[in-house]
Amino acid sequence: MVTSEARRAELVTLYKAVSSCTSCPLAETRTQVVFGAGNADAELMFVGEAPGFHEDQQGIPFVGAAGKLLERLLADIGLSREDVFIGNVLKCRPPGNRDPQADEIEACQNHLFRQIELIQPRIVATLGNFATKLLSGNSAGITRVHGVEQSVRLGNSQVLLYPIYHPAAALYTRAMLSVLEQDFARLPQLLGREPALGPAEAVPAPPSVQTVITVRESQLNLFG
Ligand code: URA
Repeated sequence: MVTSEARRAELVTLYKAVSSCTSCPLAETRTQVVFGAGNADAELMFVGEAPGFHEDQQGIPFVGAAGKLLERLLADIGLSREDVFIGNVLKCRPPGNRDPQADEIEACQNHLFRQIELIQPRIVATLGNFATKLLSGNSAGITRVHGVEQSVRLGNSQVLLYPIYHPAAALYTRAMLSVLEQDFARLPQLLGREPALGPAEAVPAPPSVQTVITVRESQLNLFG
């Protein structure tokens, strides 16, 4: 049985290794690697697509407009960034925020699989097509599979994969936002918690007592 401290130490080792990764040409154009951030013992992990401009500048995932929406959707179900771990399929920004390419995904995927192995989340919520297809091993698109959980084996971990639309898709489309809210609303049940209160009734989550990893300006700060 690997202890939480051992997994956390391994995650720090992985962070240091990934920070200087040169496995694909994105290493030449990135400002910095965006490893991922959040709770190293999270039950719930989100996997997005790739860092954008702001993430590349700050070294933290989901800090732009899509990230603000993700935070709001989390708050609606009584969670905050510090309760979950947030990562991406690609750890480096594709130039101009273009789609990830197959060779980049292949070069980067072991970092993600190792993160999942070390964090041991019960639920991995994939945000959008790239994360969903990679982690389900299936080419079915997000429109078909969103909101439908499936048990999958990822490396040594058995997790519940829960595909959700990428928040960026809902930024300008009201109908998409409702779908996203509905899919988020099922997360407390999947986590075995009380159903989420409506936004008006939501109370702040109690401070997390678990280990939190925050990556800021290339530094790994551990609180625990
Ligand atoms: N979109 C993503 O998929 N990931 C980020 O980190 C930011 C925006």
